[in-house]
Amino acid sequence: MTADVRDRALRLTPRSRAGKLLSLIVPMHNEAPVLDHLFKALDGVIADLGVRAEIICVDDGSRDATLEQLRTRAAADPRIRVIALSRNFGKEAALTAGVDVAAGDMVVPLDADLQDPPSLIAEFVDLWEQGYDVVYGVRADRRSDHWLKRLTAGSFYRVFNAISASPIPPSTGDFRLMDRQVIEALKQLPERNRFMKGLFAWVGFRQVGVAYVRPERVAGQTSWRYFQLWRFALDGITSFTTAPLRVWTVVGLAAAMVALIAALALIVRVLVVGRDVPGYASLMVVVLFGFAIQMIAFGILGEYVGRLYEEVKGRPLYLVRERVGFEA
Ligand code: UDP
Ligand code: MG
Repeated sequence: MTADVRDRALRLTPRSRAGKLLSLIVPMHNEAPVLDHLFKALDGVIADLGVRAEIICVDDGSRDATLEQLRTRAAADPRIRVIALSRNFGKEAALTAGVDVAAGDMVVPLDADLQDPPSLIAEFVDLWEQGYDVVYGVRADRRSDHWLKRLTAGSFYRVFNAISASPIPPSTGDFRLMDRQVIEALKQLPERNRFMKGLFAWVGFRQVGVAYVRPERVAGQTSWRYFQLWRFALDGITSFTTAPLRVWTVVGLAAAMVALIAALALIVRVLVVGRDVPGYASLMVVVLFGFAIQMIAFGILGEYVGRLYEEVKGRPLYLVRERVGFEA
């Protein structure tokens, strides 16, 4: 695993890890079967790092024994802090809850199922010491993902980066190390719609990628459904660009031009060859096509208006039911 996409021209100010605190944020939804593997892996990694660490476990409304197990562990291990959300709010909200309480000089969100290999954190911290503010993992090979997920994810990054002003490096996830400064910047972003990897890219700072191979989930089951991924992709695009809204001006103008040319052609034809009544089929095609285009445009407007409504309501992103391991 080596760092790629390093910008040699960047002037970096080296830092030291001595005495620094590392916050690990682990969102968990029904992850009881993986907890043993997870904490064993984290223990090994933290012991070798030479920094103090806190492990912030965000229980995102699990229905299995995740929370009970976390309480037991937190009682025995002062590094473990637990936030239990009042219901399932989704991974993005869970991550936000973790970011809000993380006290670390460095913050690393990672999945509970060990698909974000904790061993990579050592390399993240090395690069942070060199002066990078954000060190993100790049999935070098997604063989562990289903082909349909690879295809949909690939097309998403292409579409997103083609129309958004702050491109996301392809094949990155939430797995990354962020400096305190970056965390403070993220906390200033008020939006309810948290498309985290988009926000991570938007804040800027000195960023560097580290390639890694994404392994299979160690145990348990994924919580994502394709429908959720579709919503997630729409959230991402709508919160970073209004291009889908504006494109309809161009589509409308183009359609009007075509209609004008067709009208002129028809007039000329009537003048030259006389009246021509048949044409029902072509008429229907044009009417249906125009109708479909309008419906798509309405749908896209709806996507934005709906999100505007969510933002305006201003509800909290998550509600906390219980905290364990935090001083009052
Ligand atoms: N997760 C969560 N809330 C959810 C769904 C997922 O906190 O509603 C967590 C989950 O426990 C895991 C991480 O997000 O730590 C990634 O989820 P998963 O492994 O199910 O997704 P995949 O790896 O298949 O993308
Ligand atoms: Mg996973």
